[in-house]
Amino acid sequence: MHPSPSSPTPQAADAVVIGAGPVGLFQVFQLGLQGIAAHLVDALPHVGGQCAELYPDKPIYDIPGIPVCTGQGLVELLQRQIAPFAPTLHLGQQVHTLAAQAEGRILLTTTAGTALLARSVFIAAGVGAFVPRAIKAEGVEALAPGQLLYHPDAATATRAAAGKRVVVHGGDEAAVQAALDCVDAAAQVLLLHRRDAFQAAPALLAQLQALREAGRIQVVIGQITGVETAPDGTLQALALLDPQGEPQRQPLDLLLAYLGISPRLGPIADWGLAMDRKQLTVDTATFATSVPGIYAVGDINTYPGKRKLILCGFHEATLAAFAEAERQAGHKLPLEYTTSSERLQARLGVAPAR
Ligand SMILES: Cc1cc2nc3c(=O)[nH]c(=O)nc-3n(C[C@H](O)[C@H](O)[C@H](O)COP(=O)(O)OP(=O)(O)OC[C@H]3O[C@@H](n4cnc5c(N)ncnc54)[C@H](O)[C@@H]3O)c2cc1C
Repeated sequence: MHPSPSSPTPQAADAVVIGAGPVGLFQVFQLGLQGIAAHLVDALPHVGGQCAELYPDKPIYDIPGIPVCTGQGLVELLQRQIAPFAPTLHLGQQVHTLAAQAEGRILLTTTAGTALLARSVFIAAGVGAFVPRAIKAEGVEALAPGQLLYHPDAATATRAAAGKRVVVHGGDEAAVQAALDCVDAAAQVLLLHRRDAFQAAPALLAQLQALREAGRIQVVIGQITGVETAPDGTLQALALLDPQGEPQRQPLDLLLAYLGISPRLGPIADWGLAMDRKQLTVDTATFATSVPGIYAVGDINTYPGKRKLILCGFHEATLAAFAEAERQAGHKLPLEYTTSSERLQARLGVAPAR
């Protein structure tokens, strides 16, 4: 798989898969078997959807042929399976707009400025885009880019923190880890949470405690009620309410927020596709939505008898890929087996079976 730089001019794409959960990953595989190359977009910085984000270490027992694997284990197996088809990845960006064009193609744009002009689109958006929970306080939305970062990775957080007074907001392991990551680079590190209790691995909590005792990390208990900026827009201070309900002012240069990641349906409801209670309605012969060339597979779709299971999504992705290949060919295609078809084996990059 190879990443693609974001581009303001649309890149032509045979297929765009929205969502890199288990069903989106398997969609790439089925499209590859049909000779259709895919771009794969996800709001998360990594593939795997719910399996990777919500239950990476928990066991799954109902994937055909795999008696047991973890959520992350399944994602890794799927990544291996789709490797021959090397999808172009656009991670850490949410598909924002999707519009059918007069000539039959579909134009998509993402929050990172990527534009794709696709022959077909496969919406595998699950329960919505996994996006960071936002701070809801006065003035926060008007902050300039770079003054507030949501869930930056360690390298980004450390780079941004260099020489600055940093407030890390959150109470879970990601927040504790970020405070520890920034301590050497930053001028000052404060860990802000609504109470003096943090959820993290014991080793990280021990490090936090040691740095608190050494005076290198300060813990502040409170809730953000607003931000204060200078006339030129420079971030100056947070307005807080302390546990006694008293207002406090906390000077800072950089705010790093780790308030968790949760799924949001987002803009899908604005794309003009037929929906039933926030899910996309589909034809169960093809998994096409109400717009030609746009399919919906996995947890995002609904039809009589729908079950939100990975294996059902795999079936849906298979029929959707067949349907698009036949739409492009303009006629019915013969069924071929990976066991015996030299064409499919060539696409998979494996030696012909003897
Ligand atoms: C705790 C738990 C245990 C489970 N156990 C099982 C089990 O044992 N067996 C089973 O079959 N199922 C299980 N499930 C359900 C299973 O995880 C889902 O059915 C499956 O993940 C659906 O896959 P998906 O690819 O359709 O969607 P998801 O896994 O939800 O992935 C969708 C992806 O799309 C992205 N996305 C959405 N909108 C956009 C957008 N606009 N732009 C960019 N990206 C977007 C999201 O960020 C996400 O990564 C479990 C679920 C949970 C929560």
